[in-house]
Amino acid sequence: MVKKNFYITTPIYYVNAKPHIGHAYTTIAADVLARFHKVQGEDVFFLTGTDEHGLNIQKKAEEAKKEPQIFADENTAEFKKYWEKLGIKYDNFIRTTDEKHKAAVQKALQALYDKGAIYKGEYEGYYCVACEQFKNERDLVDGRCPDHDIVVEKVKEECYLLKMSGDVQKKLIEKIKNDEFRIAPEKYKNEALSFLESQDLRDVSISRKNVSWGVELPFDKEHTTYVWADAFLNYLTGLGWHGDPKDIPSKWPADVHLIGKDILRVHATIWPIMLMHLGIEFPKLLFVHGYLLSGGRKMSKTIGNVVSIDEMLEKFGVDGTRYLLMSAGTFGEDVDMTMERMVEKYNADLANGLGNLLSRIIKMSEKLNHELKDYIGEKYEERTSTKEFYKINLEDINLCGTLVQIWEVLVRDDDKFIEENKPWELAKSDKDKFEKVMEKLILDLNLISELVIPFMPETSEKIKKALETKKAGILFPRIK
Ligand SMILES: [Zn+2]
Repeated sequence: MVKKNFYITTPIYYVNAKPHIGHAYTTIAADVLARFHKVQGEDVFFLTGTDEHGLNIQKKAEEAKKEPQIFADENTAEFKKYWEKLGIKYDNFIRTTDEKHKAAVQKALQALYDKGAIYKGEYEGYYCVACEQFKNERDLVDGRCPDHDIVVEKVKEECYLLKMSGDVQKKLIEKIKNDEFRIAPEKYKNEALSFLESQDLRDVSISRKNVSWGVELPFDKEHTTYVWADAFLNYLTGLGWHGDPKDIPSKWPADVHLIGKDILRVHATIWPIMLMHLGIEFPKLLFVHGYLLSGGRKMSKTIGNVVSIDEMLEKFGVDGTRYLLMSAGTFGEDVDMTMERMVEKYNADLANGLGNLLSRIIKMSEKLNHELKDYIGEKYEERTSTKEFYKINLEDINLCGTLVQIWEVLVRDDDKFIEENKPWELAKSDKDKFEKVMEKLILDLNLISELVIPFMPETSEKIKKALETKKAGILFPRIK
């Protein structure tokens, strides 16, 4: 049987700084989905990487008195280091400074140019160096970028532009409406549509004249590619694409582009329109998540509410960190987290929850005559409703909801079940009932170990080991 493909991507991250918790949030989510689809027997390809060109990087490198490539190398190494620490297993890590990527970008841009989708013109507008983007005048706050609070520059320069309006815009609206190019959750689909329907798109600049740190345009060496045009193509070059629109990798189209809501607009406009001009299929789904807030506000060093990856790893371990991030709130919405609340949740759900449940069950099982694995067999298959719910929800990218359900119907219910049945008394008074009670608990534990594989791979292994050896160490040490 031919395996079903599942191709998932994260955005490629900008290497102007080291990774922060927001990067970890997106990347762990993608890793969870990749692992889930792998368990389903699909042929999974998980792509992440780094976006390394542009004026912003060039300037940061100058400030650090480093060559841009060295600067990019160093920060890219940080991303890789953290992904390893967080147990993230990607299939490819694409860098936009890879020679193969650059060659493919040039080939694709040449194809767009030959088709007349790119033309030489002039662009005048307000430019934010931090966004690397021209801003609409109406979005500015007192002449400042609303996202970066820095003064934007009025820039007029010769550049190459990509055609965005007219037919391509109409077709794009159609495809978003009929879900051929699906955007989820629904509110982001509506947001993209209302933006697209309210105005004729302006053609976008795809080149810069005075930025040396970028991919040279093949048809005009005085220009380098504007970061977005270079970056988007990673979704194809990451599969080994060489830039020929007629020769597309078999794993394309992507099943899921996972992105944060700050980059929804460009992903719902520039990227699909580039693909349309190239005659390449759209990705199937653009799934958008919200911001990670801390105490109701954006994390910022000035406010002092930044939660770092290191801090989380140190306190909660790898699986604790993965669990807390994925269960912090509905995936898609803004999610609010504070260290205080995470410590509470860690103790409640993991130390006193799952960890305690495991050690109690293993301890009580000493009084059983059989090996624990003798209890696990066909009966395990009976737990279909939980498994169905789980499958439907993860296919739907309901990450938090899935964890909530597992904890509700397995961890907490089993705790109650133990309190009600008092197996330690049954062991003395009613051996048959004791066996039955323990059987349910052991089957549930086994099921938990299966269901948490994508979220907490190490924990899953530890539970399985405990069931094999009748020995359980401490899964999650309590935090005082
Ligand atoms: Zn900005």
